[in-house]
Amino acid sequence: MLKKITLVVATTLLVTACGSNSETAGSGSADSGQSDKVYKLKLAATWGPTLTPFIDASQNMAKMAEEMSNGRLKIQVDPSNKHKSPLGILDLVKSGQYDMGHTATYYYKGKDLATIPFTAMPFGMTSTEQQGWMYYGGGLELMQKVFKPHNIVAFPGGNTGMQMGGWFKKEINTVDDFKGLKMRIPGFAGEVIAETGAVPTTIPGGELYTALDRGTIDALEWVGPSMDIKMGFHKIAPYYYTGWHEPGAELHYLVNDKAYDKLPADLQQILKTAMRVSADDMSVRTQHMNAEFLAQMKTEAPNVQIKTMPPAVLNELKAINDRLVGDMVNESPMMKEIIESQQAYQTKARNWGKLADYQYIKDNQ
Ligand code: CA
Repeated sequence: MLKKITLVVATTLLVTACGSNSETAGSGSADSGQSDKVYKLKLAATWGPTLTPFIDASQNMAKMAEEMSNGRLKIQVDPSNKHKSPLGILDLVKSGQYDMGHTATYYYKGKDLATIPFTAMPFGMTSTEQQGWMYYGGGLELMQKVFKPHNIVAFPGGNTGMQMGGWFKKEINTVDDFKGLKMRIPGFAGEVIAETGAVPTTIPGGELYTALDRGTIDALEWVGPSMDIKMGFHKIAPYYYTGWHEPGAELHYLVNDKAYDKLPADLQQILKTAMRVSADDMSVRTQHMNAEFLAQMKTEAPNVQIKTMPPAVLNELKAINDRLVGDMVNESPMMKEIIESQQAYQTKARNWGKLADYQYIKDNQ
């Protein structure tokens, strides 16, 4: 695989920008004889029209694709208020109602558990580890394997970086404090807290403030300072916990495989490049926004108490996670392949991370 990627990277600059996608995405392309033909695609986003920087990723991608193709590739981006199905993107793209989607794969765990690890696993990889695995550690290939039965070619769509553990109205001192707690928390972390007696739910971002304010839920996790402060959660919940559940959540572009295969080869490359550049831009922008909004929160909402779960609680959550992951691996050969690939990569990448950023930050507080 390494040789294959090296060869691709050395071949053209364009392919370098697309990483190893070209090896795994789609089965072929239409002949590019009609160079003036305009291709129009429709994209459904999980996010609302003002949800920066998530919605911006697909909007930037569409703009880049149109400019790079000299107007031959036009992508219409519909935010969630247009299609009214923020957590139904997989079906919209699978059925061909939409050609593309921008979402997070773990929202579809009810349809296919193996979609979860491509977004994030509790106690899993940080964003740099997740992205290293995705582009060069076998992640992309495994993602195509999972999405092929859904008639979808999938691509990374931007990383949120480390997510905060969420907003709580009451402190968490022991694992018993989770009992009966209604919490918005998607993905595998929801399965983990369910084992403590908590009641996890997945609610779209736009409905979270009202749900917490009205007591429909007692706690929620969303993203981090980059996106939480604008939502106003600090006005209705005093405790802001550090993260354990989504250490480097990746979003995704989903593309209907027939729509993808209809594109001429040059437009496929332009689309892949625009997706990758917009994804990278979203990751960088989130990092920047986290710094900016954390500073703003400390000034404008000094009463927010930033907490970390007690070590005994984290240990308990980790033990539950390990047990559930073990069960899942025993039940699903696909999940076994993905989890073993991630764990092997995480061990190697973490050895470097401990020597590098972690050591440096520890030594230079
Ligand atoms: Ca989240």
